[in-house]
Amino acid sequence: MEPKARFARNTLSNARRLRSAALPGAMRHDWHLDEIRAIHDTPLLDLVFRAARVHRAHHDPAEVQVCKLISIKTGGCAEDCAYCSQSARYETGIEAQPLLEKEAVLEIARRAKESGVSRVCMGAAWREVRDNSQFERVLDMVKDVTAMGLEVCCTLGMLTEAQARQLEGAGLYAYNHNLDTSESFYETIITTRTYRDRLNTIQNVRKTGVTVCAGGILGLGESKEDRISLLRTLAAIRPHPESVPINVLSKVPGTPLQDQPDVPFHEMLRMIATARILMPKAVVRLSAGRARLSVAEQALCFLAGANSIFSSETKRMLTQAVPSPDYDADHAMLDLLGLKVRPPFKE
Ligand code: SAM
Ligand code: SF4
Repeated sequence: MEPKARFARNTLSNARRLRSAALPGAMRHDWHLDEIRAIHDTPLLDLVFRAARVHRAHHDPAEVQVCKLISIKTGGCAEDCAYCSQSARYETGIEAQPLLEKEAVLEIARRAKESGVSRVCMGAAWREVRDNSQFERVLDMVKDVTAMGLEVCCTLGMLTEAQARQLEGAGLYAYNHNLDTSESFYETIITTRTYRDRLNTIQNVRKTGVTVCAGGILGLGESKEDRISLLRTLAAIRPHPESVPINVLSKVPGTPLQDQPDVPFHEMLRMIATARILMPKAVVRLSAGRARLSVAEQALCFLAGANSIFSSETKRMLTQAVPSPDYDADHAMLDLLGLKVRPPFKE
């Protein structure tokens, strides 16, 4: 290469290096608990400001991903997750339903697409995926919904590497598997599986090209230290989860957690802002619990780095027990705030 051309190329790559070094928000996997605690406890407006800078350096701040959750198999679950309306162990009034037919799912996905949704998340009240005709049906659903031009996410419980590869082959874009809380608090909430089981499934997904969606729930009775520990575990995943849902407990009558105190809004905001700073490129989702936030509170969450929401046509999200704002209310909110729907397959 001519010296002049080499000089030009080096100058260009140096400029790129400098630009990325100057971006706020380091891509790290080795955060110490002390560092995370210090970020989390920053005076609130300073924290939101710092998170907003990281957010703006790594994302288009005008874009919000709009997702639709479809419960493809509802209730009757063998697990004992203390928050869940679908566990067969609690009297929650949820009627168990078998796996939906593919056509029913395609119809819901079609309507969601018409309403401006960019990602469809298909959830099943299963402990784990089994290699049977039901899984074949889910693979078919993934293929057909992806062919409609929508990102598809599945949340089906525990998964082997071979099953993750089958989902990848069907075109799956993302797999959701939440860690929910810290490793030490986990056994207070769920006894029928371990934190290690959860991490193993995430690792199995990571071995494929399917992106990882993993987050937690606030309001289970955990301490601030549990939240900080959860964030450290999420940020230690290599690469970071592409999507991080921050749920607030929807208190379901009949579950052991039905009488938990409400999570104050500022605690939710701190969690969103800290997640944004620790995992700069992740899409941070405002999930369960959003229905009780005002538009002004949601606006603060978007400023602090949240850039994904679940929306629904029925004001219900996962089951009848979990409320959600509806498409019309959400479009009105996005218009008011000057936000637009992030297109599918952006990355
Ligand atoms: N059975 C699969 C599993 O547990 O991985 C997938 C479905 S499960 C309903 C998906 C996620 O929804 C859970 O991991 C949990 O984080 C969240 N979730 C369920 N019930 C909730 C509630 N009442 N409040 C907040 N989040 C909830
Ligand atoms: Fe079952 Fe998932 Fe609910 Fe736990 S969270 S009871 S695994 S559906």
